[in-house]
Amino acid sequence: DDVPKKYTWGEHHFRSTLPKRDPYAHKGTHGKGLAIGGSVEMPGSIAMTAKAALRAGAGLLTVGTAKNVISSIAQTCIEATYLMVDDHNEHGGKAAAIPFERFDCIVMGMGMGRDKEAERLVMHVLNEANCPVIVDADGLFHVKADPSILSKRSDPIIVTPHPGEMAMLLEVPIAELLEKPFHYSRAFAAIHQVYVVLKGKHTIITVPDGKQAVNQTGNQGLAKGGSGDVLSGIILAMVMQHKNIFQALCNACFVHGAAADLLIRDNHSYYDLLATDVIEGIPAVYRTFL
Ligand code: AMP
Ligand code: MG
Repeated sequence: DDVPKKYTWGEHHFRSTLPKRDPYAHKGTHGKGLAIGGSVEMPGSIAMTAKAALRAGAGLLTVGTAKNVISSIAQTCIEATYLMVDDHNEHGGKAAAIPFERFDCIVMGMGMGRDKEAERLVMHVLNEANCPVIVDADGLFHVKADPSILSKRSDPIIVTPHPGEMAMLLEVPIAELLEKPFHYSRAFAAIHQVYVVLKGKHTIITVPDGKQAVNQTGNQGLAKGGSGDVLSGIILAMVMQHKNIFQALCNACFVHGAAADLLIRDNHSYYDLLATDVIEGIPAVYRTFL
């Protein structure tokens, strides 16, 4: 492959770049995150993102979702606070009320659905938010409607596609993408000036200027619904902890994969591992590698 500067990101990088927690920290020190997503049909994904962000070290986490989703997940994710951003029963209008100045980083898209209302919400956030924004899942589907919105922003954007989503964004066949994943990641990052996390067996992290890293952790136990939602939450937490977004993304992928690896070693099998197990596997990663 014709990659100019490519790192393999492993244990040593994680140890040396993960910021230490300050003994005099308060909850605000560790970032105020907003996770937008979820819908009546997919309430679980945003709950997993929120839990994963909190386990990974976010100081304060708000879930922005529809009213009926709040009532269904608030019991399982009690450390989070909630913001009603998109109420399908009231035909929107709520999105304008997001207090963007209150948040240090936003992740959006997980389980939010593909209707017009969700699209308006995604565009609104990309236009108005003045902090780093991570776009995943259905958020990527909505970005496809007008990808030029990406380059219009001055604050960082991180996209986290799996190969199917990346192929859709680039309008190339998946097989073609998988033949040249480094090339296509760099092309997309350069055209839109975004960070790209192309997920897979070997997740590739690309920065707008073309620098790339390959994550070394993770296993086939992660091939289950919800794994990507968990990664999104870890990315949110990591972007808020790090000054350097490249390191944040690499460390997020490291934690996600290492949690799965330790769970397979100690408690689980490739058959039974669930995305929620991976969230509860995060503590072992911190305790093992720090
Ligand atoms: P998503 O498709 O959005 O749910 O994301 C799936 C997540 O699980 C990504 O972080 C992938 O890197 C990871 N994953 C899925 N399958 C595998 C695999 N066979 N080996 C390693 N990681 C995987
Ligand atoms: Mg996904």
